[in-house]
Amino acid sequence: MLVPMKGLLDTAQQGGYAVGSFDVVNLETCRAVLDQAVELRSPVIIAIPEHFGALCGFEELVAGVSRLAAPLPIPVATLLDHGRTYESCLRALRAGLTSVMLDCSVLPLAENIANVREVVKAAHALGVSVEGEVGHVGRGIVASEEALDHTRFTEVGEAVEFVRATGVDALAVAVGTAHGLYKGEPKIEFELLDRLTAAVPVPLVLHGGSSTGDERLRGAVEHGIRKVNIFTDMSVQAVANMQQLLAEEPRATVLNLFGVSKQAFADVSGHYMHLFGSVGRA
Ligand SMILES: [Zn+2]
Repeated sequence: MLVPMKGLLDTAQQGGYAVGSFDVVNLETCRAVLDQAVELRSPVIIAIPEHFGALCGFEELVAGVSRLAAPLPIPVATLLDHGRTYESCLRALRAGLTSVMLDCSVLPLAENIANVREVVKAAHALGVSVEGEVGHVGRGIVASEEALDHTRFTEVGEAVEFVRATGVDALAVAVGTAHGLYKGEPKIEFELLDRLTAAVPVPLVLHGGSSTGDERLRGAVEHGIRKVNIFTDMSVQAVANMQQLLAEEPRATVLNLFGVSKQAFADVSGHYMHLFGSVGRA
């Protein structure tokens, strides 16, 4: 069934586990993640960055994802990942997502608060959950091998002020992870995470979960993270599966290729559901 993200994360908070938030690019990859969640009785978040709708249309992708999730016997939150503007969030509300993230983390705190507060007002009127970000989770290695890491660690006082002033339902924090692949070894600041967990009254979110390493991610959940975002690991595995198939079977069809990419999303998302402790919670 479709539910707002707030209920999923509040329950995870009580249970001491985290819910995986998996970005999907089409209906096949969405189906793969949802099938895993049903099989493992795990709550799950299906996330869609606005530009992932480029291939078939954002509204069309949201409609398809909602249609797949609605009849399932497990709770599924659907989320606009990294919405950049008020208009993006309204578009997501209209399309029917149950949750939105407004990421103004590169702006000064006062502007971040002012923008997110407006989205919270509109979203909460519709029963939709909102995620904000304080501090900034930067990017790891990009395609050019150039590190673009502009991570700014979250300050505890700013995080508390942000949540109080905006009324957000979940808060993304920067404690050492980065989006995409890493140049070196990531290092999570657990001491900072502990202070955030103690001070911030809403569930905490970790972006850039991919390639962070199982041990570090398990530690992050133990230290209070309640939502972990995963995309790159599924994407990398899907490409590897397709390359392997083409190497073994040069005449593979597009149906075969989509099939092995779907399998990658199932394998990787299932692995993380186990790691985050959400299996058996739905
Ligand atoms: Zn992110």
